Amino acid sequence: MAHEISPLNVEALRAEFPILHQQVHGKPLVYLDSAASAQKPLAVINAQADYLRNHHANVHRGVHTLSQRATDAFEHARRQVQSFLNAREVEEIIWTQGTTDGINLVAQTWGRTHLHAGDRILISRMEHHANIVPWQLLAAERGLHLDVAEIHEDGSLNWDSVQDGLNRSPKLVAMTYVSNTLGTVNDASRLVKAAHNIGARVLIDGAQAAPHKRVDVAALDCDFFVFSGHKTYGPTGIGVLYGKREVLEDMPPWRGGGEMIAEVSLERGTTFAPIPFKFEAGTPHISGAIALGTALDWMQGVGVESIAAHEEALAAATHEALSTIPGMRFIGTAPGKAGVVSFVVEGTHPYDLGSLLDAQGVAVRTGQHCTQPLVDHFGIPGTVRASFAAYNTFEEVATLHRAVERAITLLK
Ligand code: PMP
Repeated sequence: MAHEISPLNVEALRAEFPILHQQVHGKPLVYLDSAASAQKPLAVINAQADYLRNHHANVHRGVHTLSQRATDAFEHARRQVQSFLNAREVEEIIWTQGTTDGINLVAQTWGRTHLHAGDRILISRMEHHANIVPWQLLAAERGLHLDVAEIHEDGSLNWDSVQDGLNRSPKLVAMTYVSNTLGTVNDASRLVKAAHNIGARVLIDGAQAAPHKRVDVAALDCDFFVFSGHKTYGPTGIGVLYGKREVLEDMPPWRGGGEMIAEVSLERGTTFAPIPFKFEAGTPHISGAIALGTALDWMQGVGVESIAAHEEALAAATHEALSTIPGMRFIGTAPGKAGVVSFVVEGTHPYDLGSLLDAQGVAVRTGQHCTQPLVDHFGIPGTVRASFAAYNTFEEVATLHRAVERAITLLK
């Protein structure tokens, strides 16, 4: 919608992020590591504090006022997630600890029910370890095959390779929407259609999509979608698994305990609660869920498309500025990429560059970014990664540029 792609008032936004206004090693902090974890606006900090200060009690358990208030706020947050993802039903939203937790839940419940010896799972070369290792564990236990769709040198998905993978009739396709290392945005909708055509279920790793794209799980038609609260300006320790009702209802529970049962009998055994509670054993991260709901509302208030456009402009400016540096090699240059810039500089190690940037107040991520198969593919030890959020500025891009030049002078 055109009205939402208005430019951000970044200075006003920055005032909402107290953490940004500090010095690191005597220099103003330039925080360029939001793909690892985004900083929190006051609205989110205040929502969590207000809940803890005024309303906390355990949820779904008490008749007393605080418990009812906590339950109302917690379930309201679930509806905020439903609206953010455009899920058809609120019962399709399951609280998890984050993306990793959500993928493990799917592997251990749907996977252990529906995947048997000889069955195949299709992932891609650009997956985060969170979308590799749970499948490897299951594959080892069950005798499954893990196929890998390859990428092109610019970091875009190789659709011929995807098609080869689909031709082997996987039961599950599990892929990232946006790559945390390359910034590549995959055509998730095309992937879902192609996978459904051969009868496969599809899990979309939305960890890097939810903070930077308008996500519509109903339109995407994916079977599962996972993301983490801490990358969408919310707290750590909370995340979301979206699943289609009929798929979730067909899955056994994973963790057993309180909250997830209908009736427990030592004689007759246990029956389970309906979705989503069947998958939410134990006391949940109540304050985290409430603050995540606030974070998602905050993002929508600012405008998800406006945030994405701003981040993409910052990434483009970074590419342009850094490309003048001799020996610069960008890792991930696919068209339409998100606000992530990964690079290596000939003759320097990413860790050394990262440390020298930190000494100048610039926080970037260095290393493999939990994507070792991808980084190995490029024949490099890792990358330096600058990643952007709503609160970053073009001045910060200029600071990064100067800091990289200075670091290289020191290293050479
Ligand atoms: N997938 C992707 C694409 C990611 O970027 C990340 C976080 N770097 C994860 C999964 C894992 O997220 P979390 O650590 O919050 O579970």
